[in-house]
Amino acid sequence: MKPWVTFDLDNTLIRSPFAYLHFLPWLKDQAQKRNLGDDQLWERIRGHAERKWRRGDWVASFDWATIVQESGLDVLPDPMQPRAVNLRPLVLPHVDRMLRELRRLPVSLALVTNGFYAYQAPYVRALGWDYVFDAIITPDRSGYAKPHPLTFAEVTPGLVHVGDRLTHDVLVAHRAGRLAIRAGHRSPERDRIDPLSPTRIHPDLTVEDYRQLPAIIEYLLRRV
Ligand SMILES: [Mg+2]
Repeated sequence: MKPWVTFDLDNTLIRSPFAYLHFLPWLKDQAQKRNLGDDQLWERIRGHAERKWRRGDWVASFDWATIVQESGLDVLPDPMQPRAVNLRPLVLPHVDRMLRELRRLPVSLALVTNGFYAYQAPYVRALGWDYVFDAIITPDRSGYAKPHPLTFAEVTPGLVHVGDRLTHDVLVAHRAGRLAIRAGHRSPERDRIDPLSPTRIHPDLTVEDYRQLPAIIEYLLRRV
């Protein structure tokens, strides 16, 4: 059985397309209708999601349609598939070339994202990545969200997980018994922290340039 190499999506392979192309424009419109600042309205919605997380409803904390409905806002429609040309500028450098090279290795490839399927699949398809990845794992389908190790139940045995967040990607990789590579666009991590997280979380490796990743995976494959 080929081992799985898994990737987070948002800020790992691409700047969050759901946020930039769909949710934030919708939020701006909602804020204008109510004479509120975008930030003010976002804080309200974010706070609602965070409360769900703290109650232990990890999957529900990513269910934006329900969260905004419960916040008294208009219906948030699912995103439509965008034109690839609008999406390309959000893809991080060298990602496509790296994925093409990984496809030649004896590994299975999966996306493991905390974004719901309906919020991620249109973008994955628009980029042609539905042909690159053998599986797309989302919380609404698996019933678990990172950093819960059962997120990886369908993508086992795992060689390595690649992601931007220490508190989700690196932590879940180690909990699920695989290596963790930190890569992508990193930013401060303040939301949706597992209270059982260790105080310090260290990736096995940090990759600054995706052109290096295929050789690293090849090296790891020779060692297992
Ligand atoms: Mg991410």
